[in-house]
Amino acid sequence: MVYHDRVKPVLYCATTNAAKVREFQAALADYYEVRQLPGMGQIAPPEETGETFEENAALKAMYYSGFCEDRVFADDSGLEVDALGGAPGVHSARFAGEDATDADNNRLVLERMDGVSARSARFVCVIAVAVAGSLMATFRGTVEGRLLTGPKGDHGFGYDPLFYYPPFGCSFGEAELHRKGEVSHRGEALRSMRAFFETAHASDSSRSSSSNP
Ligand code: IMP
Repeated sequence: MVYHDRVKPVLYCATTNAAKVREFQAALADYYEVRQLPGMGQIAPPEETGETFEENAALKAMYYSGFCEDRVFADDSGLEVDALGGAPGVHSARFAGEDATDADNNRLVLERMDGVSARSARFVCVIAVAVAGSLMATFRGTVEGRLLTGPKGDHGFGYDPLFYYPPFGCSFGEAELHRKGEVSHRGEALRSMRAFFETAHASDSSRSSSSNP
């Protein structure tokens, strides 16, 4: 369903990462008005103690939904490099240390991969939706690629300049936002979340029309 002819429903996302907000908004623009959770910058973040993307996404969504009357979604995502046993994985944001920048993290990955020829890697994204502290659902997306030996392009964020995506013939750092969204881990998880809401909306509508003939 495309909501062109009426006000789009608002969907709150819980992240302080402006690049993620842009990807959420671009992917859902036809269906939802995605807004950052009000006051997000002032809320102390929860400790990401989970060992999986699912656990961390769920704990973030449940925690932040306590600050809002509406449903809230959060994502946990990262890069898995096969030759590094799946690292940096859930530690992607802090791979090079607590206050690491994207450049620091990229440098460390390249250092660990120096001279390694098996360079397969994937991005993983899990989106969790919660209401009033209770988890509604989680959605997972992945995208397979290869690690370059140096950064290419300045689009996107995080490890995008190191992630070569064979079907595009370039890195995610060289791909436009909307092109990345069509194939990315985050795009896939967001499409599953949208399908879930549409199914829930359709069954709500049929319930209310059958009880109000
Ligand atoms: P999170 O905020 O705990 O989910 O950390 C996600 C981290 O994984 C980011 O800081 C990036 O380093 C990396 N990451 C996740 N998704 C992407 C992506 O789409 N492109 C590049 N890096 C990503």
